[in-house]
Amino acid sequence: MKPAGPLPPDYAAAPRLTLAGFDHAHWIERAGGTTPLFVYDMTVVADRLARLRADLPPGVAIHYAVKANPFGDLLDALAPTVDGLDVASAGELAMALDRVPAERISFAGPGKRDVELEAAIAAGATINLESEGEAERALAIAARLDRRPRLAVRVNPDFELRGSGMKMGGRASPFGVDADRVPALVRRVRDAGADWRGFHIFAGSQSLDTDAIVESQAATLALAADLTERSGAVPPLVNLGGGFGIPYFPGDTPVDTHGIGAALAQAIGNVRSILQDTEFALELGRWIAGQAGVYLTRVVDRKRSREETFLVTDGGLHHQLAASGNFGTVVRRNYPVALAARMNAAPDETVSIVGCLCTPLDRLADRVALPRAEVGDVIAIFCAGAYGLSASPAAFLGHPQPPEILALPAQT
Ligand SMILES: *Cc1c(COP(=O)(O)O)cnc(C)c1O
Repeated sequence: MKPAGPLPPDYAAAPRLTLAGFDHAHWIERAGGTTPLFVYDMTVVADRLARLRADLPPGVAIHYAVKANPFGDLLDALAPTVDGLDVASAGELAMALDRVPAERISFAGPGKRDVELEAAIAAGATINLESEGEAERALAIAARLDRRPRLAVRVNPDFELRGSGMKMGGRASPFGVDADRVPALVRRVRDAGADWRGFHIFAGSQSLDTDAIVESQAATLALAADLTERSGAVPPLVNLGGGFGIPYFPGDTPVDTHGIGAALAQAIGNVRSILQDTEFALELGRWIAGQAGVYLTRVVDRKRSREETFLVTDGGLHHQLAASGNFGTVVRRNYPVALAARMNAAPDETVSIVGCLCTPLDRLADRVALPRAEVGDVIAIFCAGAYGLSASPAAFLGHPQPPEILALPAQT
């Protein structure tokens, strides 16, 4: 037997899986009656945002990173509740522009093509410049369009976020401009007449280490202050990145946002004399949306092979790649998983849950203890709200695209 990850507390207490006050069967019915599907509980998102706002120092903006979950209905519900949207492609930019004013959108990511830069400049969104070359292309496009581009400089910091699943600083990187070359680039875009928006400093992702996040935010602010002095211009905005992880695996514990907020207030206080009128923002994807999502899949077959029992489901890694251990993890470990109709019944047996794809990679849970499941029972895989469907190879093996549905309270 191998342990499964911790059930998100929002769902752990009920005997049957309930989302936004309604039984999971209600949401399956509303989504068309078939499995597999993704359900996103917007009460979880709202609770988390409210908690984060209460924990952060006043005036620190919260941005949502669209790539974590770009589902249109979710963006509709989420966009009015955050201060900005961060996008990473022209497609995401278009989705963001449909929902918020351009001033609240920033566009990061390497390899922005000219058409993408043009779309952002024409709309008036902020471009987080990833290189000097990108800056020159943006300035040339702006001149051709006769527009004043809103440009921020993404910094490749000389430190990394410790304990981070994906490191993005402290080394050679496709992301951002090495810190020592940033002052020259700031002067260049300001001299060219751009509307310089400030710094974007993103040191890593999926960290559960509160101390490391605190340390990284303090280092980010110190770096921003240093770059400000060396550039000779106070940034209107410093985007501190995000990096807050969520518990996926056995032993994982959530980050302490209260502690992070208190430390951030202090760290901002330390640099206020230099960053006098600067605004600050966090950009979070996974932390906002991840725990709101549940992937529901049905048992199609129950079989024994040698000493193992397999529950073969109608879902798989084509929808939820990360749960199979093939997206950003080195060692395969089990996501939180439960039988939706018997959430906290005592386990009867050890089973492996596999998907319907013809590849041994398609294992959603490896030898977990569950109550006995029969053909037709619904299995819930948690933490499916971020980097789920949009980060999975949905075309692999030609199964239909699964429905996605928002669970909203008092919806009938
Ligand atoms: C992906 C990304 C994020 C979101 O990261 P999470 O780990 O989902 O919070 C934020 N900012 C940038 C620039 C990104 O590329």
